[in-house]
Amino acid sequence: MHKSLLVSINALCASLVWAQSPAVQSKPSVHWEELTAADFRDAIGRAQGTCLLPFGILEKHGAHLPLGNDLLNVRYVALNAAQQEYAVVFPEYYFGQIFEAKHQPGTVAYSRGLQLQLLQETTDEMARNGCQKIIIVNGHGGNNSLLPYFAQTQLDTPHDYVVYVLGITRSGQGEPKHKSNPATDMHAGESETSMSMIARPDLVHLDRAPQESGADQARLKLPEGLYTGIWWYARFPNHYAGEGAAATRELGEFEAKTWINGIVQAIRAVKADQESQRLQNEFYERSKHPLDTH
Ligand SMILES: [Zn+2]
Repeated sequence: MHKSLLVSINALCASLVWAQSPAVQSKPSVHWEELTAADFRDAIGRAQGTCLLPFGILEKHGAHLPLGNDLLNVRYVALNAAQQEYAVVFPEYYFGQIFEAKHQPGTVAYSRGLQLQLLQETTDEMARNGCQKIIIVNGHGGNNSLLPYFAQTQLDTPHDYVVYVLGITRSGQGEPKHKSNPATDMHAGESETSMSMIARPDLVHLDRAPQESGADQARLKLPEGLYTGIWWYARFPNHYAGEGAAATRELGEFEAKTWINGIVQAIRAVKADQESQRLQNEFYERSKHPLDTH
């Protein structure tokens, strides 16, 4: 009696698993590295050739956040967005611009030439595999000049794909009131720490945040519009800007939702965009004979 009950429970479980498998198969993973070769082909079709490259960095984040904070956060939002609006997400990528934190432990700062070459070869390889539309989802403020520059240089030689760059879109309307000064809340401060409390709460050591000062030391006196590379170090030598201790899950939940939504909107806009590639092709063709341009 007991044994036959077990057998029928086993049979029931087996049929549940059987019933679930086709559903699992019909929705492929959004992770590039989790797909089989054949499933990858289907995934690219389902994504309409739209792929995400979440871009992080390895750098100090105050006394309270992990070195890989930007990569962990940007992957959290990119993966969530791709599940809402299907896109294939490239694996962990953290080879960006971070010279300004070379004096701090754990920073990995690849040379200028390698940053650009590796990124170009990565997008070239993504495109060769069907990613005709690549959205670089930036998660690191130090890339804010690098990435638009990279996208701009795609006009140098013909490319059969389009590079889009999406900035960090975690603030917006209806945001909970901040406790710290938004003007200096730039790196491992209230806002970013709140986001980390959602993406990887296990790695946030909020009690350590006050160990260092994230105040603006304002050591350079230069007029606005006059730029020099040491500006960040001049203001924030601890590589910490703001007050991480002011972070809350409430603000983090708002930021995560806003950022994910921004990526979803970008994926939809990119899928609908047929003009960029058409104009690129027209431009590349006309660039071959500029004297014919009137
Ligand atoms: Zn960061």
